Amino acid sequence: MAVHLVAPGVHMVSHRGANMYLLDDDGRLVLVDTGFPGSEGVVLDAIAALGHASADLGDIILTHAHYDHVGSAAALVAATGARTWMHPVDAPLAESGRGSRPMKPAPGLLRHLMFRLFAKPGRTTAPVKIDELVEEGATIPLAGGLRVIHVPGHCAGQIALGQPATGILFAADTCMNILGLGDPIGFEDRAIGRASQRKLAALDFTIACFGHGQPLHDAAARFRARWGG
Ligand SMILES: [Zn+2]
Ligand SMILES: [Zn+2]
Repeated sequence: MAVHLVAPGVHMVSHRGANMYLLDDDGRLVLVDTGFPGSEGVVLDAIAALGHASADLGDIILTHAHYDHVGSAAALVAATGARTWMHPVDAPLAESGRGSRPMKPAPGLLRHLMFRLFAKPGRTTAPVKIDELVEEGATIPLAGGLRVIHVPGHCAGQIALGQPATGILFAADTCMNILGLGDPIGFEDRAIGRASQRKLAALDFTIACFGHGQPLHDAAARFRARWGG
């Protein structure tokens, strides 16, 4: 298990190449994404390592319905009783567990290779009930307030989260930071994905956290250099 402090009150948990984030919320915890199926033990260990009981996990925010993000959601809800949050476009996929929409690889050899390894649109997951639907412009009243930013293209119901209290942008799979800041492994619609990257590049934040790859500091400037703003 790898647990890293990203900023005060924000810990990153990485397992099998997928990142999850535990956010302090006034003595309780919020989890952003749940990793691949079978990651629940790693998350519960991380919660214990931070000095919390499992029941302290009050909320799980799912950035999108890909199996490396919703994979352990049902198991973690069963273990903790946490409430779930998701965008309405992707919630039916998580609730049915039937897998995601078709994607095409992003440009470049590395992404083509990673796409062949990791993109599994037909991969099913344990169905998980979504309790709260959140759309563009909403603020989730947790961890000091989390601003919801709709970022389709990689996945039509994907959301990023802005956390003003820490200056963190949780970019999900709008982009990733593997051998540098760049595209995710694939897109449902590349033009829409580009527009979402530009949308994030126009925002103010200091640290970017990703579904895949290490957090990036001085991040807004790096986004602007890559995608304009
Ligand atoms: Zn994804
Ligand atoms: Zn992912």
